[in-house]
Amino acid sequence: VTKVAVIGGGVVGVAVTRALALAGVEATLLERLERLAGGASGGNSGILHTGFDSPAGELESRLIQRGAELREGLLDTLGVPVWRCGARMTPRDEEQRAAVLELHENARAAGIETTLGARGDLHVPGESVTDPVLYTRALAACAVAAGAELRLGARVVGLEARGAEIEVAIEGDARPLRVEVVVNCAGLYADEIARMVGDDRFAIYPRKGEFLVFSQPGGRLEEILLPIPSKLGKGVLVFPTVDGHVIAGPTAREREDKEDRSVEGDARELILTRALSICPSLAGQEPIAAYAGLRPAGRGVNYVIEPSPNAERLLHVAAIRSTGLSACLGIAEHVLALLAGRGLVEPRPAPTSPRMQRVPDADGSPWWKLAR
Ligand SMILES: Cc1cc2nc3c(=O)[nH]c(=O)nc-3n(C[C@H](O)[C@H](O)[C@H](O)COP(=O)(O)OP(=O)(O)OC[C@H]3O[C@@H](n4cnc5c(N)ncnc54)[C@H](O)[C@@H]3O)c2cc1C
Repeated sequence: VTKVAVIGGGVVGVAVTRALALAGVEATLLERLERLAGGASGGNSGILHTGFDSPAGELESRLIQRGAELREGLLDTLGVPVWRCGARMTPRDEEQRAAVLELHENARAAGIETTLGARGDLHVPGESVTDPVLYTRALAACAVAAGAELRLGARVVGLEARGAEIEVAIEGDARPLRVEVVVNCAGLYADEIARMVGDDRFAIYPRKGEFLVFSQPGGRLEEILLPIPSKLGKGVLVFPTVDGHVIAGPTAREREDKEDRSVEGDARELILTRALSICPSLAGQEPIAAYAGLRPAGRGVNYVIEPSPNAERLLHVAAIRSTGLSACLGIAEHVLALLAGRGLVEPRPAPTSPRMQRVPDADGSPWWKLAR
């Protein structure tokens, strides 16, 4: 009997597996695809947020902030490309200036560094960009070096709770995997995993985000340009990538099809209209590529991190909609504490020098090419 099975090889599942392995807990990661980060984790903006604009007191905000603390130092140790370029938000009128001031106060209350410029623009030095696929792979390499097992092409098709065990049926396997605990990090399919034990309390739907990729337009973009957030969300941003491109996006479209990652016909216009207002130098530039990612959004819920009422040995880590890349290390620590608090795992103190391994060379493609 394996101690813990983690379902889902996105950045969240991988971070949870790593935390378990570093704490000496036997863990197996099951990913249905033949590669890691094939879901939301490979089709996002690749921005590592500080949480400066997250509402105080929410679990998501706490885990973003904790994630930011935990990754300092780790990224370099793992050899993950990261550019600590910072972000800027420039208000255009009085109403926006007031909104920016509010964000500045919010950040200060949370202890996150932001500075206000003379024209009322907000600078957030801690925001950075990375390659989210390499980050996921690096965490996985670290998990494996610490003793975790990684199974790609392993789609979970059934769960059966039997006393102190759960049987995990994997497509194509003659026998189920017997484990003591299952952690459900299945992204868009986390609701399907929950339904395998008759738990239908939450539903996950895809919120599509599309992006346009540009070669560097007229001069190098040196920071993330943020729009002033509105009720509709964070909006379209423009940011530099670690591989020397500039990306504008994402859109936010509520969709039904969990497999449809197409870039829709009007995406270009939707993105460009918004992007040009914060980055006029994009005018006249032709995008060299476009891609889309699907946020695993919960209907009316966000950050569902709790045991299933139908199976106490199944822990959901679901609806990690739009900040999972930033929060993954915080989420992983939280999950480990929840499991230990319920007596389901017995973590030993993390080794003083965790066994880590540098990320193996990828195939040379940045994530935005893999996402297409
Ligand atoms: C457009 C967009 C922009 C974003 N921008 C940012 C950003 O800038 N910064 C940030 O922090 N976050 C961002 N996010 C959010 C971030 O990408 C997600 O929060 C994060 O990737 C969620 O990770 P996950 O591991 O929970 O899900 P996923 O990455 O979707 O992983 C779930 C995995 O589970 C696997 N799986 C599903 N069902 C099964 C099964 N039955 N058996 C085995 N495996 C299964 C899937 O194949 C998948 O690999 C963005 C997201 C999108 C889409």
